[in-house]
Amino acid sequence: MEVVLVEEGPYRFRIEQRDQMRVPGVVFASQALVPQVAGDRALEQVANVATLPGIVRASFAMPDVHWGYGFPIGGVAATDIAEGGVISPGGVGFDISCGVRLLAAGVERAELGHDRLQRLMDILDVTIPRGMGRGGLWKLSGSEEMDELLVGGARYAVEHGHGVPRDLERCEDYGVLDGALPGQVSRRAVQRGIDQVGSLGSGNHFLEVQAVDRIDDPDTAAVFGLRADQVCVMIHCGSRGLGHQVCTDHVHAMDEALHRYRISVPDRQLACTPVDSPPGRDYLGAMAAAANYGRANRQLLSEAARRAFVTAAGVGLDLVYDISHNMAKLETHEIDGVSRHLCVHRKGATRALPPGDTGLPPDLARAGQPVLIPGTMGTASYVMVGLPGNDAFHSACHGAGRVWSRHHALRMVRGEQLRGELEARGIAVRPSSWRGLAEEAPRAYKDVDEVAAATEGAGLARIVARLVPLGVVKG
Ligand code: 5GP
Ligand code: MN
Ligand code: MN
Repeated sequence: MEVVLVEEGPYRFRIEQRDQMRVPGVVFASQALVPQVAGDRALEQVANVATLPGIVRASFAMPDVHWGYGFPIGGVAATDIAEGGVISPGGVGFDISCGVRLLAAGVERAELGHDRLQRLMDILDVTIPRGMGRGGLWKLSGSEEMDELLVGGARYAVEHGHGVPRDLERCEDYGVLDGALPGQVSRRAVQRGIDQVGSLGSGNHFLEVQAVDRIDDPDTAAVFGLRADQVCVMIHCGSRGLGHQVCTDHVHAMDEALHRYRISVPDRQLACTPVDSPPGRDYLGAMAAAANYGRANRQLLSEAARRAFVTAAGVGLDLVYDISHNMAKLETHEIDGVSRHLCVHRKGATRALPPGDTGLPPDLARAGQPVLIPGTMGTASYVMVGLPGNDAFHSACHGAGRVWSRHHALRMVRGEQLRGELEARGIAVRPSSWRGLAEEAPRAYKDVDEVAAATEGAGLARIVARLVPLGVVKG
C-alpha cells in the first residue's frame, strides 16, 4: 500500500483516513526528514495502527519513526477503554519499559580532565555487566524476591539500599508502576530475568558519560539541575530477557484470543484484545511487572555509575529524570471536549508532561517533565521539556531513530575502525563486541539535531540542553 503524506502545517503531515482506518495518521517531521521517515515501511504501519478498535484522534508518528514489530518505533496510539478500545503488546514492544535516565555529576568537563575520564571509563568497562549472557549486579534470592521486585520496581531497589529516596522523586511514577501482576509473568520469563537485574543488554543499550555542550533554556535547565560544561551520565536499557518473554507470551495469547473478540487486524503483529477483557488485563499486569523490572534495572546501574564516579573523581551523581519509552499507560485525556479514560501506547516514544501536570513532583511542576533524547555515541543527545498543547497525548520522540537496519550497518561499518574514529575525536569507547558497535554506528541513525528541531517545531517539546559524548560503555 502506498502511503501519501499531506502537509497539514509546519512539521506536521497527515495520512488521510481510508479503507479500514478509523482515524487519520499524523506524522511529525521536518521537510528534510520526510524522505527518511517514508524510507521504510513505517508509514504503512502508522496507517495499520489507525484500524485498531477504539483508537481515538489519530495514529501518531514522531520525527524519529522507523519500522518495528507491528507498530512503528516512534508510534503513539490511544484507545478509548469504555468503547472497547484495545491494548496490543506490539504497541509497547519487546523491551517493555526500555527507557533512559540522566544523572548530573558534581564536576565539570575540564575539571574531570583526560586521565580521570580514562580511569572512570576503565572502571565502568569492568563493572557494568552487558552483552547477551552475562549476569547482573543484583543476585536475587529466588522467585519470591523476584515477585517483590516486579511489584516494587525502583522503589524496591532503593528500599534495599540501591539508591537514595530522592531518586524516586525523579522517576516517572516515582519508580513503580501500579497494577503489576507477577502471576502473569511466566516461569520462563522469571528464569530469563532472575540473573539479569543490573545489566545493560545488547548494542543499542549503553551507559554514556556526557558533557553539557549548550544550554538553550537556562531557567528550565536550572530547575533540572543542569549547567553548561557539567558532566552527566545517560543510561539506556530495559527489562532484558524478562520483558522480552512477557511480550512473546502475551502476543501469543492475544493472537489466539483475537477471533473471540471478533477483531480483525491488517497485520498479525498487531494482535490485541480489549483493554477491559481477561487477556487485556492479564497483559497490562504482566507489562507493569516487566516495567518495574526495567526501572529497578536502571536503578542498579545508576548505583554502579555512582561508585565509579566516587572512585575516579570523588563526586556524586544526582538523578535528573528516569523515563520509559516503551509503555502503555492508562491516562485521562479530553477528546472533543469530553474527559475519556484511555490506554496510551508509546512505543519508542517518550511521555512529555506539560508544566503544572499533577504527574510531576513539586520541584518539577513549574518547569514541565524532562524529556530525554539520546542521539548516538558519536553525535549529540538532548534534554527537552514537555509543553502545553501537545495533541499527541503529551508525547515526544525517543531518540534519533534508525535509518539503516542493523544488517545494513554491519555491511557498511567495521567496529574496529569506528572505534578508532571515535577515539580520534576524543570519545572513549568501551565496546562489548565489534559487531554490536558497528550496528550502532552514528551513520545508522537520523541526524539527532534535525529530529530535536522537528520535535520542537511541531510543538511536542522544547529544547533545554544539548549534550555531547565523552565516553561510552556499549551493550
Ligand atoms: P531504541 O530504544 O530505539 O533502541 O534506541 C533509542 C535511541 O537511542 C536510538 O534511536 C538512538 O538515537 C539512541 N542511541 C543508540 N545508541 C546510542 C549511543 O551509544 N549513545 C547515544 N547517546 N544514543 C544512542
Ligand atoms: Mn531497549
Ligand atoms: Mn530503548
